[in-house]
Amino acid sequence: MFDRGFIGGDLYLEGAFKAMNLYTEEGKIAAISRDLLPCRETVDCQGLKVLPGFIDPHVHFALSLGEFTSADDFESGSIAGAYGGVTTFIDFLDPAMRAGDFKDHFARRRAQALKSRVDYSFHTTLGHYEGDLSPLIEDSLEAGLTSIKIFTTYSDSGRDCPPPVIEACLRSPLTILSHTEKDALVDPHWQEVASYEASRPARSETEEALHLADLVRATGGTLYMVHTSAGSTVAALAENHTDLLGKHLFLETCPQYLHLDTDAFKGESGRLFLLAPPLRSPGEQALLRSLFRHIATIGTDHCPFMKAEKLRYPEASRVPKGIGGIEYAFLLLYDLFGDEVIPRFTANPAAIFHLENKGTLETGKDADLNLFDPSGTTLVEGGHSRSDYSPYQGRTLKGSLRATYLRGEPLVKEGILYPSQGRFIRRRLK
Ligand SMILES: [Zn+2]
Repeated sequence: MFDRGFIGGDLYLEGAFKAMNLYTEEGKIAAISRDLLPCRETVDCQGLKVLPGFIDPHVHFALSLGEFTSADDFESGSIAGAYGGVTTFIDFLDPAMRAGDFKDHFARRRAQALKSRVDYSFHTTLGHYEGDLSPLIEDSLEAGLTSIKIFTTYSDSGRDCPPPVIEACLRSPLTILSHTEKDALVDPHWQEVASYEASRPARSETEEALHLADLVRATGGTLYMVHTSAGSTVAALAENHTDLLGKHLFLETCPQYLHLDTDAFKGESGRLFLLAPPLRSPGEQALLRSLFRHIATIGTDHCPFMKAEKLRYPEASRVPKGIGGIEYAFLLLYDLFGDEVIPRFTANPAAIFHLENKGTLETGKDADLNLFDPSGTTLVEGGHSRSDYSPYQGRTLKGSLRATYLRGEPLVKEGILYPSQGRFIRRRLK
């Protein structure tokens, strides 16, 4: 006798839809069958697509930037995610400057994340790291973190990773995430919202991306470029390194680079849209959309602030950078690309980040499920983030999420949030 049967839906299996029933037991997918099998409760999935729970590999909950802290903590951020079908997210540890930093940084984030309603992991993060990398890698793997983020810029705040350390990272078996901007092409004296894009131009991303791709080739490492913002970066990588893409080099982009452009910087509300890297020109955005096939995953870089915080200082350079996005990410992408986006929210991030029990509908995996109605529509409203504005407010998007299940239990059903406790997912290299 199974716990629950999801009956009559179209299951997303190995990249295609099949009319099958899915049965769960003790939080796992226990059977996938055309037959009607005995179960304690049935969920009618007629007319619905049954998708794996979504994975957001890039969020910043309770991120402290000195005077400002991002508006969502692990509770509100994970709830906003739950309403968007996200059953797993990966946040970041604070930048480590030396190997000894790891244990404190990890303990601090673990404690903060106890409030999460969905499952989670972390990326280890490096600042201007000094010393031998191997003890940090050992600690990281022992803690269950198989990925490390580095910055190629932010020399002004001591977060730029020294080139020999980047190379050492890429010689390790971990997945290396890069914030990809050429430091020398980022204008440290930038002042005005209107000139923000020009102060860290698409070229700074493209040149750094090509440089890092060369390093990947030299080292045999695995690199994941976060928040790829410019179509011309994707075009340059596809032209010069097509053999690496999807194997050693993975590109993430975010809903904001596909839906918002430099027009958002115009006028009074421009500073509400400041984030790094900047929104790009409409032309760059069109190119990014046209090269979507090269994008491996969607991360949201969810890092909203309150309106009053964005508007606190007249100087644009003092505005905390970041916007929200976790709640509507899937629908924003589905609206543009349809079913093509599904693996970018599920199987791809699961494979790249070693989330072995997540991302696909297979027996033995966690029963994280989304019941999606492709014929519905969704109006973007304020949502469940604590931030008091959404960059996408007022848009009507194709499709609607009818219910989300976390490890076999309801998480959100017809707009109602159910009690749940997120778990830390210990990852390991294959
Ligand atoms: Zn980020």
